[in-house]
Amino acid sequence: MKFGFVSDYNFSMDTTRYIAKHVINLPKSGIRDFFEIVAKMKDVISLGIGEPDFDTPWHIREAAIYALEKGKTHYTSNLGLIELRRAISKYCEKNFAVSYRPEDEILVTVGVSEALDVAFRALVNPGDKVMFHQPCYVSYSPSITLVHGEAIPVPTYAKDHFALTAEALRAAWQPGAKLLVLNLPCNPTGGTCDRAQVEAIAKFAVEKDLLVLSDEIYSELTFEGGHTSIASLPGMKERVIFLHGFSKAFAMTGWRIGYACGPAPLVEAMMKVHQYSMMCAAILSQEAAIEALVRGEDGMKAMRDQYHRRRDFIVRRFNEIGLKCHLPRGSFYAFPDVSGTGLSEKEFAVSLLEAEKVAMVPGTAFGANGSGFCRACFATSYEQLIEASNRIERHVQFLAAKK
Ligand code: PMP
Repeated sequence: MKFGFVSDYNFSMDTTRYIAKHVINLPKSGIRDFFEIVAKMKDVISLGIGEPDFDTPWHIREAAIYALEKGKTHYTSNLGLIELRRAISKYCEKNFAVSYRPEDEILVTVGVSEALDVAFRALVNPGDKVMFHQPCYVSYSPSITLVHGEAIPVPTYAKDHFALTAEALRAAWQPGAKLLVLNLPCNPTGGTCDRAQVEAIAKFAVEKDLLVLSDEIYSELTFEGGHTSIASLPGMKERVIFLHGFSKAFAMTGWRIGYACGPAPLVEAMMKVHQYSMMCAAILSQEAAIEALVRGEDGMKAMRDQYHRRRDFIVRRFNEIGLKCHLPRGSFYAFPDVSGTGLSEKEFAVSLLEAEKVAMVPGTAFGANGSGFCRACFATSYEQLIEASNRIERHVQFLAAKK
């Protein structure tokens, strides 16, 4: 008998026939595919994966170390530590003008990723229609498919700075639509809505009796004009599930911590799914999250200032280079139009990577409406952005000379 790595064996059984149909047909994330190629290359400047280049501020890391020293190694309440839920409640009141009861209106989750998943699993029946604006975060459509829902994308456009308009919602709406997913500011476009636009969306949601899942993970990273949470508008708290987390604003991607807030019966439904799948978020991450909310504001603002400066630089450079780029009001993504090069977004991204070793993500990784665009994450150092922009310029000039 041969012993060795599992991959040494030649399996004779077709194991794929055990995979559920809706999973086997699920596409792999376009971002991951692309970055598997990037990972094998040397000296690449990556404007790819959407995560802060900053490490989590030291005082937040220290809070987790201290908690570990004190023996905080146990499960917490399924809803999350009550101290964290109290801190979330205060934070929402102060920053989003909406108040949630720590006892039964807040669920601590394993990132906004889990918050989205438990919300879809708790709310969507097979065949239920879920609207969301597109280009959008890669997980929305697959997560809806995983619960046998029907995804209804609503296009947003560069001419509107990728803000979602009530007109676009009305045009895409179908009878039976039940949920509306909002992501303002938006990954991958950086587009967001001003208060009047959020009010128009809220009015539409009320008219069509939609429950709103509002993913506001980039809200602190709004550079001008302020952020309006749809949950804060009069009468909206009862039809909004507010999703937020620590990954972006507090540079805590690896801690896997986030939260969902909403009406108690909906939080209870999500808590049941969470209880049987996740049990609770990791206690050390919860302890760190308390520190982030209570004493993390200055550090967060310092990082936001850096993103702001980088945004101004990279957007100016894209436009100088001839890649038309709107000014993203929030997030840490720029979404330039590359169609003027004569290449598709995929061809442009691959040729840029091969010729100049700069990685951007083709816009179609975020849905068909991303066609003609690429996403550039500017959560990387200013110096790297200067170098990346020079390389992109050289490549665009090379493509123009070839025409
Ligand atoms: N929502 C959006 C719009 C995102 O961009 C991301 C991460 N890229 C997430 C949710 C998931 O974040 P978390 O790390 O909190 O799971």
